[in-house]
Amino acid sequence: MKAVVVTGKKEGYKIRDIEDPRPGKGEVVIRVDRAALCYRDLLQLEGYYPRMKYPVVLGHEVVGTIEEVGEDVEGFNEGDKVISMLYAPDGTCSYCKVGEEAYCHARLGYSEELNGFFAEKALIKVTSLIKVPKGTSDEGAVLVPCVTGMLYRGLMRAKLREGETVLVTGASGGVGIHALQVAKALGAKVIAVTTSEEKSKTLSSFADHVIVGRKFADEAKKLDDVNVVIDTVGTPTFDEALKSLWMGGRIVQIGNVNPAEGYNLKLGYMILKDIEIIGHASATRKDDEAALKLTAEGKIKPVIAGTVSIDEIDKGYEMLKDKNKIGKILLKP
Ligand SMILES: [Zn+2]
Ligand SMILES: [Zn+2]
Repeated sequence: MKAVVVTGKKEGYKIRDIEDPRPGKGEVVIRVDRAALCYRDLLQLEGYYPRMKYPVVLGHEVVGTIEEVGEDVEGFNEGDKVISMLYAPDGTCSYCKVGEEAYCHARLGYSEELNGFFAEKALIKVTSLIKVPKGTSDEGAVLVPCVTGMLYRGLMRAKLREGETVLVTGASGGVGIHALQVAKALGAKVIAVTTSEEKSKTLSSFADHVIVGRKFADEAKKLDDVNVVIDTVGTPTFDEALKSLWMGGRIVQIGNVNPAEGYNLKLGYMILKDIEIIGHASATRKDDEAALKLTAEGKIKPVIAGTVSIDEIDKGYEMLKDKNKIGKILLKP
């Protein structure tokens, strides 16, 4: 089968013909219906992910149809539509037992220790497999593990209450545009922040207010008490994000565009305003199931900037870096 393979650290990727996977104990083989490109792929290609084995198939976001079921797999059958979490937990440790499998010591990452999903078929461990409810589009389902499920968990960790106000930075990005929708689906009022006047028109159909510009805290504070910020950018927006929060505010930090850059936090600011800073990256099974449900109900609508084939993967990454695009880039093998 055809696959996008990373051959070694900082060696980039190549399109290769590799052997079709066969399911072992506790595994299934899926036909990949859609995978999704992600900024994390670029960080992986730059060598920021020390656990990667080589060669490894790239890609960690997938929806597919089960083609073959291995031994000791219960509850999943050929023909089932499924997604996979970003990692396979062991399913047996103290964290897994209480549904916090994101913290499993023995978890293995797809596109890290395990082959990923930019291929015609993929091998998935049953511990990471989640059934997709009928009537859910492939485009909606593929966004759950790394985008909408992750955002759902972020807002759960921030203890978002109905009627609170959520501000989203980088709102036109692949994560941001869906953050607006997840927050709205959970009953929040949403403020979108973007640097692009052009994109503000599109954003106004997803948000109650749109602010254009790099200095947004003063305007946000005039609009409403901001209770939660989802920062999908990083150090360029963090200071304004923090300043825009009302007392008791929570900031969910997802973006980190300048990984080498720091931020000089004045503790008094946090302490006197009861601010919580929540570093956030992953999702668990229950978060993914909740996001799938919201997607099936039409409360989250996938925003897709484009879809490429395996042979067009270069074009896909060009689209990912193109600041004029709104939404996620998908791969259809
Ligand atoms: Zn991703
Ligand atoms: Zn575990």
